[in-house]
Amino acid sequence: MTPRWFPDEMPMPAASAETVGWWEAAADHRLVVQRCTACGTTRHPPGPVCPRCRSATSEWATLPGTGHVYTYTVVRQAFIPSLRDRIPYVVIAVDLDGAGGARLVSNLVDADPGEVTVGMPVEVVWEDMGPELAVPRFRPAPAPADRETR
Ligand SMILES: [Zn+2]
Repeated sequence: MTPRWFPDEMPMPAASAETVGWWEAAADHRLVVQRCTACGTTRHPPGPVCPRCRSATSEWATLPGTGHVYTYTVVRQAFIPSLRDRIPYVVIAVDLDGAGGARLVSNLVDADPGEVTVGMPVEVVWEDMGPELAVPRFRPAPAPADRETR
């Protein structure tokens, strides 16, 4: 079991025919992005048709799990009662390395909310919310120049 940052009472994501492959990869702790097999354009959230070329064929490209904060907000209100002792927490939009510009909305964890900045390097950490559900969160990472070659 992975570390836990959020309570069991968090609203569960609803997988659709388009997103089930993404959630299956997440359950295996693999961060993926949907890539059009006709033109190579990536997209997130997953969808049935490429927004660039209208092809309905796609594949899941595995990402390294690193990126940087595109934007963020600090949440100071407990929108469900069990979040009362978890606030403040940080919601981030992550520019994912290798994702062709696709971004993912997630949370910054293992960091003081006051230290988040636009452009902050982050890396994925997984939170198992149940036997078949893992949610990607992100923690501060070394700057890309300091990272080992992957
Ligand atoms: Zn396409």
